[in-house]
Amino acid sequence: EVSVQELYKSFTLNRAALAVLRGLSLTVAGGESLAIVGPSGCGKTTLLRVLAGLETPDRGRVLIDGHPVAGVGRERAIIYQEPRLLPWASVLDNVAFGLEVRGTPRAEARDRARHYLRLVGLQAFETALPRQLSGGMAQRVGIARALTVQPEILLLDEPLAALDAMTKLTVQEELARIWAEERMTMILVTHDLEEAIYLADRVLVLSRETETPPRLLEVPLPRPRDRNAPGFVALRR
Ligand code: ATP
Repeated sequence: EVSVQELYKSFTLNRAALAVLRGLSLTVAGGESLAIVGPSGCGKTTLLRVLAGLETPDRGRVLIDGHPVAGVGRERAIIYQEPRLLPWASVLDNVAFGLEVRGTPRAEARDRARHYLRLVGLQAFETALPRQLSGGMAQRVGIARALTVQPEILLLDEPLAALDAMTKLTVQEELARIWAEERMTMILVTHDLEEAIYLADRVLVLSRETETPPRLLEVPLPRPRDRNAPGFVALRR
């Protein structure tokens, strides 16, 4: 379970303080997939960066299974809009790198990386360089890289936004399948309501920056909640 307790975060912009997160609280159950949508600039990325430990909140805290966390940790991985691959390293090395820097022996890191490359359908591309990949393939490498550290919590910041419509659908299906198989907690920030509805159990709308504390609106999902109901998308668990 991820519990966000009264988070505050301000930035200084043009010498003025900009209060981005103003007492935000929310809870995500273990294994749940939560989507967060909201107007541009309302603090979605900031929230994700605080959750990832890349940004320190001014006040408030993040608890994982009841324990406060600070800084980056192995139990959380983040996927960005662009995969930010190392241009000089092969696909396999890009995926294995995250484990290697955490001290996993190279051979083991590469084995694990191969497993996740298979999961995203890119086993044939392990020796390729990032510039030889399409946008969708590169993003899938980014997804494999995040999964290789076997995070309990996967944070996704507009993971499909840079992809064309067809690729987006494929990668979206892949994410849904992986989530169902790996059963990690997913927190997804997106502008795309369809994507949120497809990938999430619950969709929260973060309100405009003028509201203190921010209002979190839960959107009812237009699909059966009973996962065994006939017609329920087979990809979901
Ligand atoms: P979008 O949907 O457009 O990506 P967002 O909801 O993800 O927006 P954030 O990226 O969290 O919004 O940014 C919220 C506000 O905080 C913005 O006004 C932005 O200018 C400001 N901000 C974010 N990071 C910094 C920073 N490092 N320094 C100064 N201001 C920042």
